Amino acid sequence: MDAKEFREFGKATIDYIADYLENIRDRPVLPGVEPGYMRKLLPSEAPEEPEEWEDVLKDVERVIMPGVTHWHSPQFHAYYPTANSYPGIVGELLSAGIGCIGFSWMTSPACTELEVAMMDWLGKLLELPKEFLNCSDGPGGGVIQGSASEASLVALLAAKERTVQRIKKERPDMDEGEIKAKLVAYTSDQSNSSVEKAGILGSMMMRLLPVDEKCSFRGSTLKEAVEKDKAAGLIPCVVIATLGTTGTCAFDSLDELGPVCHENHMWLHVDAAYAGAAFICPEFRHHMAGVELADSFNFNPHKWLLVNFDCSAMWVKNANDLVGAFSVDRIYLAHQKQGLAPDYRDWQIPLGRRFRSLKLWFVLRLYGASGLRNHIRKQVALAHSFEKMVLADPRFELVLNASMGLVCFRLKGADSITKKLYEALSQSHKIYVTAATYAGSYMIRFAVCSRFTEEKDVQFAWKEICDQAEQILSCEQNGHSTNPFSKEMLWESAQNSEIIPPNATR
Ligand SMILES: *Cc1c(COP(=O)(O)O)cnc(C)c1O
Repeated sequence: MDAKEFREFGKATIDYIADYLENIRDRPVLPGVEPGYMRKLLPSEAPEEPEEWEDVLKDVERVIMPGVTHWHSPQFHAYYPTANSYPGIVGELLSAGIGCIGFSWMTSPACTELEVAMMDWLGKLLELPKEFLNCSDGPGGGVIQGSASEASLVALLAAKERTVQRIKKERPDMDEGEIKAKLVAYTSDQSNSSVEKAGILGSMMMRLLPVDEKCSFRGSTLKEAVEKDKAAGLIPCVVIATLGTTGTCAFDSLDELGPVCHENHMWLHVDAAYAGAAFICPEFRHHMAGVELADSFNFNPHKWLLVNFDCSAMWVKNANDLVGAFSVDRIYLAHQKQGLAPDYRDWQIPLGRRFRSLKLWFVLRLYGASGLRNHIRKQVALAHSFEKMVLADPRFELVLNASMGLVCFRLKGADSITKKLYEALSQSHKIYVTAATYAGSYMIRFAVCSRFTEEKDVQFAWKEICDQAEQILSCEQNGHSTNPFSKEMLWESAQNSEIIPPNATR
């Protein structure tokens, strides 16, 4: 393909993307295909001769689209948002066009320097303590990782090295292997699966500790576990706290966990993958009280801040902890300006790295801080509007108050009815929600995800939920199974706004 053809192909593809996103509301959010669907649509061998780009682009609609889950559909309410914006897409394109690998400053100075500057812009928007910023002239700084999972693993590995070095000095009788076998990591049982995985990958014992009734991980719980482990001769090493848990968007108590970490020389890493974006709005910053006690902080602009995947922002108070843990020198990696700017290869797992700060730069400039705050506030408001609909319907109950863009709800009564509702919604493909459990009871998560979601889409989703619920409830009644929604009961529950405690027997 020559440059002339690239221009045509590229422009046609941009048009295709714009049409796709502009009309995404018309496509069912979930595909109707079965496993193996694509095998029938593709030849079994790669073509021997080159084909025309027009034919390839046509096949996107025929082969690919039937099997796409439309993550940016306004009816997508599963998991958490994943970012998508026009400035973000163009940033991705330019990054691919330049195609540099920025593992050290020398391999592309602009790649490192824009990242240093963007991590400061972003850190200031969140009002992170200044020790985290590159511009603080201290050892702190920010880096773009590929994912929150990588950030947790990087923090855990850096904590491991820091602790090993400390214990080696205190206990010259212990060898490194012995020390490593005694290290313990702590997190809550509500933390993301990737946190447990970081423990597996980093070969560290990980305690998944219980949370309070608001799903928050508290200082007293940590303190008790740490003391028990110390008494057993183990070495507490790292705590991974969550701001905005995956299940219910709960916030761990950083200002309680921080002092316990400090007293016990433990590294405190904060995983704010989803909710961290909201801290650009002052009204949500109270959730990160205590962040000054953290050693590292991470959130995903690729979730809720309109920067296309992958862009996970991580700040550390002392980058020497990362460099000390990960630096491996080779003659071919050395350069003359070493030490004058970060060599980001020492802050991450891979050697190679893309020019990801470009899309962050584009998004920050083309939305402006005010545009990004509007985006967050609009989605939080839509979640509250959905929450009101749940509260106004006596057949339903909230499991917890709406948190950020997430509402967790269920049908009153046995888990089996909510489970049936979830199955019916999954089969009708009109909206996409996920299920979860809270304190042992089954619930549905409704997350405001797409930047295209409007009030009318929230109403559409609620109508679909009510239609399916109605069918399930009338079936239950006709089948003479225990239906908790007899006329009297409905009347009663309308009178009584009490929410059944989640651990009550149903
Ligand atoms: C989504 C999520 C993750 C995983 O993020 P990746 O960037 O996909 O690794 C981790 N923690 C929390 C709290 C999340 O919501």
